[in-house]
Amino acid sequence: MSDSVWVRWVHGIYTKGGNWRDFNVPITLSWAFKKICKIKDRLDQWVHNGSYSIQEVYHGLLGAGQPVNWASFVWNRSSIPKARFILWLAVNDRLKSRDKLFALGLISTDVCPLCGLISESNTHLFFACIYSLQCLRDILTCLTYEVWSARNDSIWNFKVPKKTFEKLAMKLQARAKGR
Ligand SMILES: [Zn+2]
Repeated sequence: MSDSVWVRWVHGIYTKGGNWRDFNVPITLSWAFKKICKIKDRLDQWVHNGSYSIQEVYHGLLGAGQPVNWASFVWNRSSIPKARFILWLAVNDRLKSRDKLFALGLISTDVCPLCGLISESNTHLFFACIYSLQCLRDILTCLTYEVWSARNDSIWNFKVPKKTFEKLAMKLQARAKGR
């Protein structure tokens, strides 16, 4: 297999034909490249007879990790992938909320843009902001109606509806468009 353009570029510009293992990282190197160089010695443990498995390296670098009890809540197929990803960021407190950006000096104020009252943290945004609480109230109102309707269907029509969530999602979308 031939080297990619990137590999040839690295050899041409940085290692200049020398051995990759002996390569000393110059201070001017990019952050990403420095990271790659930093783990090059660790990669040896996954090389067997000159080849390696990306999967094995990935799991090796990631570590065993502990199972989390919210995994099925986040990674289920009832929502679109981008919504799952945002939920995963929120659960891990990794969303770049304004309090974090403000602490880094990237913005001049950390006030929540939805309510304009206090600092926007993940906790505020999803559990305390007036806007979010109104959204939750609307969802709970619709959900209560849908669950009660499903309950009545199961009593009077002898069937348990299976599409309660989809009906609720459609109603919420229609409601949002009407605003
Ligand atoms: Zn707010």
